[in-house]
Amino acid sequence: MITQKNVTEILEAAKIEDIVEDFVNLKRRGVNYIGLCPFHNEKTPSFTVSPGKNICKCFGCGKGGDPVQFLRELENFTFVEALKYIANKYGIKVEEKELSAEAIAEKQLYDSLYLVNGYAKEFYHEQLMETDKGKSVGLSYFKQRGFREGTIEKFELGYAPASKAAFTNSAIAKGYNKTLLKRLKLTNQYDGDFFRDRVMFTIHNVSGKVIAFAGRTLSTDKKTAKYINSPETEIYVKNKVLYGAHLAKKAIRQEDECILVEGYTDVISLHQSGIENVVASSGTSLTEGQINLIKRFTPNIKILYDGDAAGIKAALRGLDLVLEQDMNVKVVLLPDGEDPDSYMQKVGVTAFKEFIAEQAEDFILFKTNLLLAETVGDPVKRAEIIKDIVSSIARIPDPIKRSLYVKQCAQLVDIEEQTLINEANKLITQNIAKGRKKRQIRRDRSPVGKPAPSGDPSFPSAPPPMVEGEEQLPPELADRIRPVDELNQVVGAAYQEKDIVRILISGGNQIFDTEENITVAEYILSNIEDVLDDFDNAGYGLIVNEYHQRLLKKKATDHSYFLNHSDEKIREITTGLLSSPYEYSPNWEEKFEQPLRTQKNPEENFTKDSIYSLRTFKQKKIHQMRLDISDKVKAASDKGDFDEMIKFMKVKKKLDEVYNELALQTNTVVIK
Ligand SMILES: [Zn+2]
Repeated sequence: MITQKNVTEILEAAKIEDIVEDFVNLKRRGVNYIGLCPFHNEKTPSFTVSPGKNICKCFGCGKGGDPVQFLRELENFTFVEALKYIANKYGIKVEEKELSAEAIAEKQLYDSLYLVNGYAKEFYHEQLMETDKGKSVGLSYFKQRGFREGTIEKFELGYAPASKAAFTNSAIAKGYNKTLLKRLKLTNQYDGDFFRDRVMFTIHNVSGKVIAFAGRTLSTDKKTAKYINSPETEIYVKNKVLYGAHLAKKAIRQEDECILVEGYTDVISLHQSGIENVVASSGTSLTEGQINLIKRFTPNIKILYDGDAAGIKAALRGLDLVLEQDMNVKVVLLPDGEDPDSYMQKVGVTAFKEFIAEQAEDFILFKTNLLLAETVGDPVKRAEIIKDIVSSIARIPDPIKRSLYVKQCAQLVDIEEQTLINEANKLITQNIAKGRKKRQIRRDRSPVGKPAPSGDPSFPSAPPPMVEGEEQLPPELADRIRPVDELNQVVGAAYQEKDIVRILISGGNQIFDTEENITVAEYILSNIEDVLDDFDNAGYGLIVNEYHQRLLKKKATDHSYFLNHSDEKIREITTGLLSSPYEYSPNWEEKFEQPLRTQKNPEENFTKDSIYSLRTFKQKKIHQMRLDISDKVKAASDKGDFDEMIKFMKVKKKLDEVYNELALQTNTVVIK
């Protein structure tokens, strides 16, 4: 343990710009520095370092913090490891307080286990690369799978010889302790080798230390287990480990997505082809510990399944756990009889990438379709399946995501939305009750917390003030599901209007479509010409109208025009929209995942952003028109004027159609 005085000294020495500079090229901009974000892939720098506040922050993906936080997140350091990194950098001597005898023993045990595993890894690798048997059996197997030598080195593959105790004897001759060898089960109870005549996969923890092995037999004897694994030890807790995570973590962060496969060779094969954000759960379905590991790097999981229906159904059960963690889960079904490795070898990396991008399907919808296919003509089974699906939906923490799923599933299973909502709400109430109990139990057991890294949490992620209360969802929405329509009524159109204005001001001059050579402003304004006078918010209305007028007169308009506008209200709105262009209304972004999805590289995404904004805007406007027309239908009916009533009902029907179409489009976008 480092002494408190020493901790303070180290923390005070740490300058954020020095630390970040170790990983990122920084350029000065005003009082701050700016560079390309190390946490996500970007072409235009949005990673800002503030020496004044001694913190950093990415305006694209939101990651950052003080020096310690930055190191912990980027390098997966523990608090102490981060401190040691800083101390080393500034030449500060780390004074370690004396550990208790027990803590020393524990640390020594861990270190020794890593050390022994490290030796075993080298032994098996050398056997593979340097012995005749290793080369003719092991190496030729890996090569036949298409693994290049660089890949074999990178994944530290090996070969365990067939003789009875070659490894054990060699380790003991080198002075390794037999008790430890047995504890790791590298040596069996009869002092022989546990792994014999197998090709070896080295299993690492996320920081790259060797924690276990898996050995695959090459014998065709059906009685021999295909794979055997190291048993669990102090350093190997199976359900918290993902194979390949130490090599994948950087790519997972950059791609903002984790691809999950089943087998070791799938990971290696994909990695070798340049798809590096891939890990394997090694067998069974995902565990909570594994999900938490992925969650450190990304909320997005894409799971590749080989096309065996029974296996998929079993695996789907485990996925409800992922939903509870508010992760976005997509599923890709590979063609019949193919696993990721074989399919990749067959079609090549480009086609493979295209395939998984195109076939990726949202988990809940995937599950719904899969289960539904079996229920044709069996109403009882159908009812069971609907229950099953609703129970998945009920586990999603975000109420708005839930509502959207309910809407989509209601359409898929052809059932009243309200029925699903009632069913889901019942389950949610149960889940909440269960959750409370579980949390209570956990709290009772939980030990004292870890030291929190210091820092100024208010910079710069503090949410901007709410405008006109429009983004605030009423508390009763927090847990219960409401129909999507109802959500729309709750929040009003001001948000959609604001978004349109934001895009116009910040990117109106950008090219929307290079072929047609039209700008974002031309695209948006030509699409909303007929409702320019119907903006609910007077300020936004003024801006779109003025922009429109200037466009008609072919006058150039950009943000500085509105920043210097004679109308104070317009100046104020413009400043507000420009000062936090990527971060405004975080509440809404989270709730509706919009436009967060396209905001990561805003400068490259004006086209996507415009299309999305316009859709939601239209949807909102049409919804308002539907409400108006409903009033008219009712008024006509009250008057007994049936001709007029039918006329309005026809209009209403048309509007409903358009609305549903838009809802479908936006929903698909939202749920991605
Ligand atoms: Zn970033």
